[in-house]
Amino acid sequence: MGFFMKYGVIIIGGSYSGMSAALQLARARQKILVLDGGKRRNRFADHSNGFLTQDGIAPDEIARTARQQLLAYPSVYWTDQMATDISGEKDHFTVSTDASERFHGKRIILAIGVSDTLPDVKGLQERWGQTVFHCPYCHGYELGQKDIAVIAVGENSVHQALMLPDWGATTFFTDGRLTLNDEMSAKLAHRGVEVEHTPIARITGSADVYLTDGRTLSFAGIFVASRNKPSTSLGEGLGCAIEETPFGTQLQTDANKETSIPGVFACGDVARVPHSVALAVADGAWAGASAHGTLIFG
Ligand SMILES: Cc1cc2nc3c(=O)[nH]c(=O)nc-3n(C[C@H](O)[C@H](O)[C@H](O)COP(=O)(O)OP(=O)(O)OC[C@H]3O[C@@H](n4cnc5c(N)ncnc54)[C@H](O)[C@@H]3O)c2cc1C
Repeated sequence: MGFFMKYGVIIIGGSYSGMSAALQLARARQKILVLDGGKRRNRFADHSNGFLTQDGIAPDEIARTARQQLLAYPSVYWTDQMATDISGEKDHFTVSTDASERFHGKRIILAIGVSDTLPDVKGLQERWGQTVFHCPYCHGYELGQKDIAVIAVGENSVHQALMLPDWGATTFFTDGRLTLNDEMSAKLAHRGVEVEHTPIARITGSADVYLTDGRTLSFAGIFVASRNKPSTSLGEGLGCAIEETPFGTQLQTDANKETSIPGVFACGDVARVPHSVALAVADGAWAGASAHGTLIFG
């Protein structure tokens, strides 16, 4: 398909942000290629909440509808291959894949998302997206104002614990990873947050916290801030600048979503905080239009 063809833009990552970028470019009648590994970040959750017109819809279904609408444009090409390497420079990029194909494009958009690393607490990972979450706006409402746990990973967990009382009575587990200073304790007390310092042995049942002293505290849901980094190292491989966020690292972009490497754009979770489907879609739309602009104006 791609060996003798040069695309205007090659988009790596065909989830919400990548497809949103692709849609703008398709509507500008640009010849584009989307490569997608199909591992959307919210694949662990049954429902995606908070995205206008798609509230409560399955993440897969939102992606399926988007892809169907996108592929109706004749200048859009799609492959379910993983990009393994990007070489070249503005106007002359080559993308290699895990199927040993090579594709050529004038611009690159990295919409590769981030990976989530959870603290080493037994039982957390297997409940991720079901009763263990990071974003209260995404999954807080469905807990029906019942009891909520927050597990500390560091100081930014205090922020999370201070937010959660709007969704339910909150207990904050410092779990040996965080020492609270007087100011933090006062703020937590002011918001009515219970603090539990006994270390966690494991998570059991639906969302029960079993402590090392033998007590078990039951909750409707558990919130924990995951550590994020770009889901693959394509950006780093190209030399794109990386920046710190409160949650980990991301690709640095300017106001037009261009990375530090000319002709390489990035959007969605890998290039902005905070994270949500709505914000990824908005970010992607702007990255698509910006990349198109540079094909016209340089
Ligand atoms: C458990 C959980 C639940 C969530 N629930 C909600 C919710 O209810 N509402 C909400 O708004 N947000 C929710 N989010 C956040 C939401 O999932 C993200 O904000 C959103 O998925 C970001 O979209 P994206 O396109 O930037 O990245 P992603 O959706 O992560 O997609 C990245 C895509 O790039 C592909 N990819 C990566 N590297 C390559 C490569 N080298 N080659 C080819 N393809 C590649 C991946 O396979 C994937 O398809 C949730 C997140 C989690 C973790």
